[in-house]
Amino acid sequence: MSRTPTVHDAVIIGAGFGGMGAAIALRRLGHDDLVILEREDDLGGTWHVNRYPGLAVDIPSATYSYSFEPNPYWSRLYAPGAELKKYCDHVATKYDLRRHMRFGVTVESARWDEEARHWAVTTRDGEVVLGRYLLTATGFLSQPKMPEIPGIETFEGTVMHTTKWDDSVDLTGRRAAVIGTGATAVQLIPEIAPRLAELTVFQRTAIWVTPKSDGPVPKAIQRLYARVPLTQRVARGVGSTALEGLMVLGVLHYRRFKAFNRMAERWATRHMERQVKDPKTRRKLTPDYSFGCKRPTFSNTYYPTFNQPHVHLETTPIAHVEPDAIVTEDGTRHEIDTLLLATGFNLWDVNFPAIEVIGREGRNLGKWWRENRFQAYEGVAVPKFPNYFSLNSPYSYSGLSYFTTIESQMKHMTRLLTAMEKRGATEFEVTEEANARFLARMRHNLEDSVFALGSCATARSYYYNQHGEATLLRPTSTLGALREASRFPISDYALT
Ligand code: NAP
Repeated sequence: MSRTPTVHDAVIIGAGFGGMGAAIALRRLGHDDLVILEREDDLGGTWHVNRYPGLAVDIPSATYSYSFEPNPYWSRLYAPGAELKKYCDHVATKYDLRRHMRFGVTVESARWDEEARHWAVTTRDGEVVLGRYLLTATGFLSQPKMPEIPGIETFEGTVMHTTKWDDSVDLTGRRAAVIGTGATAVQLIPEIAPRLAELTVFQRTAIWVTPKSDGPVPKAIQRLYARVPLTQRVARGVGSTALEGLMVLGVLHYRRFKAFNRMAERWATRHMERQVKDPKTRRKLTPDYSFGCKRPTFSNTYYPTFNQPHVHLETTPIAHVEPDAIVTEDGTRHEIDTLLLATGFNLWDVNFPAIEVIGREGRNLGKWWRENRFQAYEGVAVPKFPNYFSLNSPYSYSGLSYFTTIESQMKHMTRLLTAMEKRGATEFEVTEEANARFLARMRHNLEDSVFALGSCATARSYYYNQHGEATLLRPTSTLGALREASRFPISDYALT
């Protein structure tokens, strides 16, 4: 006798903060039959995978957390990575999410079944999991980028990408190279330099670094936050306002506030001038593109590292790798025994979406995005993909703290699913017209941004896709995004 397969309320892919936020929203709406599929062996997404030395959040912690689940006990203004992972665990336990999670399950594809009217999600092991709703929360920075450098596979020493950090490797006394100077390298380099005998940093593109007003949160303040949560909400408000200002003035309204952007450049340049002694090194560390074209970062310890005699900054392009050295285009052999890859993530080739998603009439999401424009209504919904929330979509990333994105998506889902419930509908699909309208508005807004008007050609920024369009960030204020998430016209969706 064959059993009827279970159709779950929803299948969520990804057990990071995004997937957990979505699960909390669904649970609050009474959807309890959820399955959260996660490729890693534990929850936490980024904060489970990344364990490199120096890992910390670079958005103030009071802001980088769920607004409905404040943590009064962050030890620093910018909490270390391990505390973020602990916070993920706490949220999963408190909101009873663990029982929905299955780890070590890699999803390959999802297909809308037109006849049965549900999603069929296929895993690498060939298992098929069915859900009325599909939600992908697979992150943007989740597919590590291995640099394609000739000969890299011949290297005989230790090789580690920052997402695959092995704590058992003792770096003491080693001659190491770090390739990359993004936000990860900025955290890693000062942390490992003191242990190394020799460190060469291979920089292709310099990064804007501003001071970080970090410090421990005194126990008395932590107790105050716990006793009077309003005080932490105020701290959150201050952090969010500063980030919003940076984003709205420095990035989105560049046309009108170029002066603000230049101020940020001067602030970062002065920071470097105060911290780096050698003028030649300073010149190399100075970006040649506008502030904001590429994600800037904050650090008080990155620049001074380059004053240390055993730390070298190499800007000559890498030609190839040999078993015991990196050879630059000028023929210099940099002998090393350890190769540390802070080379970031591949966003546009392998994400968007991270798995194959096939909607109505066989529409393949990845193919459609690449052949047309990258687009998604309010950063969550796509025409011909019924009952699908694509949480890592073009134009979904709102503001600098990822929690703004997560919470506006939670609001969006809540508004839509509540309206469906009221009308007795079981399916939603965003209309072509609403999607086109949203896309046109985002493209129009981008015209004022640093991405369109700044000097970004040399930035090599992952904000831009393969068509040269900056379709990652949502070009509206975060307040605007949150407002729209609770007010968008329900008629933008066809409900059946
Ligand atoms: P990233 O910003 O993409 O930086 C990767 C670096 O590797 C770049 O400097 C890049 O140079 C270089 N690179 C890549 N391939 C190379 C090659 N073949 N040869 C030479 N150089 C190469 O990645 P990331 O530093 O991991 O940061 C990614 C994002 O993670 C950040 O922007 C941030 O959003 C997030 N992050 C956040 C925190 C936090 O505290 N919240 C901490 C770390 C990271 P090019 O620029 O020339 O391509």
